[in-house]
Amino acid sequence: MEYDYLVVGSGLFGSVFAYEASKRGKKVKVIEKRNHIAGNIYTENIEGINVHRYGAHIFHTNNKEIWEYVNRFAEFNHFINSPIANYKGEIYNLPFNMNTFNKLWGVVTPEEAKAKIEEQKAAAGIDKPRNLEEQAISLVGTDIYEKLIKGYTEKQWGRKATELPAFIIKRLPVRFTYDNNYFNDKYQGIPIGGYTQIVEKMLSSDLIDVELEKDFFEHKEEYLKEFPRIVYTGMIDQFFDYQFGTLEYRSLEFETIILDQENYQGNAVVNYTDAETPFTRIIEHKHFEFGTQPKTIITKEYPKKWKKGDEPYYPINDEKNNEMFKRYRQLADQLPNVIFGGRLGMYKYYDMHQVIGAALAVVKKEFE
Ligand SMILES: Cc1cc2nc3c(=O)[nH]c(=O)nc-3n(C[C@H](O)[C@H](O)[C@H](O)COP(=O)(O)OP(=O)(O)OC[C@H]3O[C@@H](n4cnc5c(N)ncnc54)[C@H](O)[C@@H]3O)c2cc1C
Repeated sequence: MEYDYLVVGSGLFGSVFAYEASKRGKKVKVIEKRNHIAGNIYTENIEGINVHRYGAHIFHTNNKEIWEYVNRFAEFNHFINSPIANYKGEIYNLPFNMNTFNKLWGVVTPEEAKAKIEEQKAAAGIDKPRNLEEQAISLVGTDIYEKLIKGYTEKQWGRKATELPAFIIKRLPVRFTYDNNYFNDKYQGIPIGGYTQIVEKMLSSDLIDVELEKDFFEHKEEYLKEFPRIVYTGMIDQFFDYQFGTLEYRSLEFETIILDQENYQGNAVVNYTDAETPFTRIIEHKHFEFGTQPKTIITKEYPKKWKKGDEPYYPINDEKNNEMFKRYRQLADQLPNVIFGGRLGMYKYYDMHQVIGAALAVVKKEFE
């Protein structure tokens, strides 16, 4: 088949593009280096439970069009993300809200909670925060910082909070209502039956061929010659042979365990906010879909330093990396037949709704 496009990567970005191109009669080849489609939103069914292989994924958006778009490919349930924090066995509601403040200090009204936070902020006497610790304390006071932020953040970044720049937490969501809904968005949920079906449906057209376990770099030069247009959703620095250096990421390790019990932690997401517990959170997958299976599956999430060859999860968008990305972006702009997209192509943390939005914007530019 003569293809119009090569799409590198079968994640959400590449799949939305392939789907939209096929709808317009274009022939698309998708190559994927993993042995499954769907990128990081991949879910696999184990023991009747949809396991989020690459970390907990909760769909949320304020954009009605994107919500309706994604609902074409799956029915969503009414899951609301309400994570809890476990600090040395004490349980607190997240995001920081009246339930959290009541448990911490026994306060009952928003006024009392505000007064408590103000009192702690004033006692700390921080004028100009010089690092993440000072920034957090100046925003929410010492108690919340010590119990719910410090250990978690230090594990996440692998560095002391006093050595992390203040800009990492510009704002901290503090809510003076008894509301445990983590997101403020209008629409939220989990696809009933998991995320993989969404990508399966996107790639189901006869005009799309998918080849798994195929790394673009095995045949880069041939692909560039053979395909009139390429949509590339892999790492942008790798595409250019790391000529300006390596963009940095934080990585994660997942430990998944099947347990012979019905309910392990009573919630989909529990954050471990002390410094001693080596993982940052435990996901209990069945709770995303209100499962009643006899067994349960949990995943412990361990943050780790990234090195070439590891899964790149979170871009480290500090000044040095952003500058390097800009230089790669300039090279990309000189390749009129290659479109760079997705979280790795743009070196940007994107939520799912943002990746769909970005892919649809590219589609619009390409076809209209
Ligand atoms: C731990 C974690 C939790 C998250 N939680 C949420 C959440 O709750 N809500 C939310 O909205 N978003 C969440 N996200 C973000 C979400 O995962 C992304 O928005 C989305 O997966 C990005 O899609 P993508 O297509 O850009 O990238 P990816 O899903 O990474 O897809 C890129 C694909 O390209 C393939 N590829 C790369 N290089 C090559 C190559 N050389 N050759 C062939 N194939 C290649 C990769 O294998 C991959 O399959 C989370 C992300 C992480 C890491």
